[in-house]
Amino acid sequence: MMNELINLKGIGPKKIAALNKLGIYTVEDLITDYPYKYNILKRTDMSLIKDGDKVIIDGVVETMPTIASTNQAIKKTVFRLSDARAIYQICLFNQQYLCRELHPGEKVIIIGKYDQRRNMIVASEIRKGIITNPPTIEAIYYQKEGINSKTISMAIELALNTNLKLENYIPVTIQKKYHFQDKLSALKEIHHPTSTMNYLYAKQQIKYEELFLYLLKIQFLKQKRQEEKKTQTRKISKKKVLDFISTLPFELTKDQITTIEEIYQDLTSHQRMNRLVQGDVGSGKTIVSFIACYMNYLSKSQTALMVPTEILAIQHYENAKNLFQNEQMNIALLTSSTKKKDKDKIYQDLSNGTIDFIIGTQSLIQKNIVFHNLGLIITDEQHRFGVNQRNILKTKGLSPDILSMSATPIPRTYALTLYGDMEVSNIKSKPVGRKTIITKFILESKIKDALYLMKEQILSHHQIYVIAPSIDSQEDDDLGNITILKNKMRLAFGKIATIGIVHGKMKSSEKEKVMHNFETGKIAILISTTVIEVGVNVPNASMIVIFQADLFGLSTLHQLRGRVGRGSTQSYCLLISKVPSKRLEFLEKTTDGFQVSEYDFKTRGEGDLFGTRQSGDAILKLANIKRDFTMLKKVKEDVEIFSKNNKEEFRKLGSSLERIESVD
Ligand code: ADP
Ligand code: MG
Repeated sequence: MMNELINLKGIGPKKIAALNKLGIYTVEDLITDYPYKYNILKRTDMSLIKDGDKVIIDGVVETMPTIASTNQAIKKTVFRLSDARAIYQICLFNQQYLCRELHPGEKVIIIGKYDQRRNMIVASEIRKGIITNPPTIEAIYYQKEGINSKTISMAIELALNTNLKLENYIPVTIQKKYHFQDKLSALKEIHHPTSTMNYLYAKQQIKYEELFLYLLKIQFLKQKRQEEKKTQTRKISKKKVLDFISTLPFELTKDQITTIEEIYQDLTSHQRMNRLVQGDVGSGKTIVSFIACYMNYLSKSQTALMVPTEILAIQHYENAKNLFQNEQMNIALLTSSTKKKDKDKIYQDLSNGTIDFIIGTQSLIQKNIVFHNLGLIITDEQHRFGVNQRNILKTKGLSPDILSMSATPIPRTYALTLYGDMEVSNIKSKPVGRKTIITKFILESKIKDALYLMKEQILSHHQIYVIAPSIDSQEDDDLGNITILKNKMRLAFGKIATIGIVHGKMKSSEKEKVMHNFETGKIAILISTTVIEVGVNVPNASMIVIFQADLFGLSTLHQLRGRVGRGSTQSYCLLISKVPSKRLEFLEKTTDGFQVSEYDFKTRGEGDLFGTRQSGDAILKLANIKRDFTMLKKVKEDVEIFSKNNKEEFRKLGSSLERIESVD
């Protein structure tokens, strides 16, 4: 194939392997591996120089470089350099190879730092040549072991100069409107800027294209859904639904009822449902989705519930079995650790329609799963899944209704733009009797205060979550982190409390056992990485203590905080950090998820909010939904006009995008 890296002359298997590690597999990946910064080789004005300043100068080597100090560990090389204005002392620590081939009379560029005391330039880089005008702009790429920025740059250069056939997705009318150049030139400009102006111009164009494709896809999906009629209309007895609701052990909140009504309307209409339910942690989204499942069950179709973690899947499964114990509903659980034999049986029962309700993780989107009559797809914590994952599941039914749930509310303006393909229900009211969680920020040096508060909870027979950050779940110190914590907790509470530990590297059977012991109260203190972040529900847990809280995003902390305060007892969230933090203090003041997300958005960028949706789509590489929001709004208008005026072209592009993106 044309787009294999192997076809690039000069790129051998070793380099390909290193590129693969950077997530680069094809030539397309390579040429869209954009630099994270640039070095501008512009001559420093030495008359303005201060101690420690970065220096870039060029000149002629005046003296042969000689080793000046004989210290074993540090070798210092010195020589003199002259330009039209002055003579400079250059010195170099170690790295002798940089001047191995330097001779007097040679023209070189020196990059380094100015040391005022010694009146010297400490070089970090020496290259042959002179500084050009306009200055060269060098692209710097993320590097990995086995491949450095220079080699990546060279590989990209190679790729851009082999007859690439590049698809320019922006319609010609729009290209003309903005005077866009051809795509190859724009890409070359990004990787090898000829001037700052030209670079900025090219960057705008690439960003535009990314946002255009992103929004066009959303618009296309929305339109497609509006045109699709369901193959069957459901008849759902409202009375049966109400009867079922009346058996619940609690009163539904106002917003829960409204949402359930909206879902009922959707399910019984001719048009396919695509609804997002946004609601703070603990607002009771699960029961809403289960009632949706019940309605679907009454209309004799199958329901699939997809969740991001196994622990959550198990919990939903147990809840569902409990809730529907008086119904004939056949409920099953499918995760990656379901045994082969059980899996085969589940596949069979899904395809012959024996199973009414399947709950599982991403395992649900495997190829060999066939449904008999999939009518409703529910995804919990939907921001964790990419659009594509949901779309794959969608293809498993004829035209299934879709219900997504998210505890990470998105500020309204953004939601309208980004979730243009969905209807949104908000659950803002809280179940009655819930006490506000008291949040306290505590400096690590005052950890005794925290231990004291923990002890109070243990003595009143409540349970506690203790969270350690998992900075990188691939790393071992992550484990070390929670092991250290465990020892500390043992020391402090070993005599009065049972301590359990759960982390991402444990086998799921072990995890399950620990979670079960926590749920049944056998474990009083559960130490965990963020595997418990989503969904877990233990009403007797009244405190969550989060160590190194400053390393988490606010939305994540808010989610974690939502693990407590699920019963009627007063609950606490202790945020421990080595350093004072305004963000953490903000959490002391508010418990409203919408406000938290708004604040997070303002202070931290879209990180938590769009992380997955963005990477799941892999369309947006240069563009950034928050930083480029103004452009995004403009692009949205363009997409809307284009979809109206160029119906055919819009459709063609939309369906090709849908195809390309779904292959994964
Ligand atoms: P989330 O919205 O975070 O998914 P859950 O659905 O897990 O929240 O609900 C949290 C807890 O609140 C559960 O124990 C659930 O049974 C309970 N709950 C849900 N709705 C109500 C209600 N209307 N009144 C009282 N408790 C409720
Ligand atoms: Mg939930």
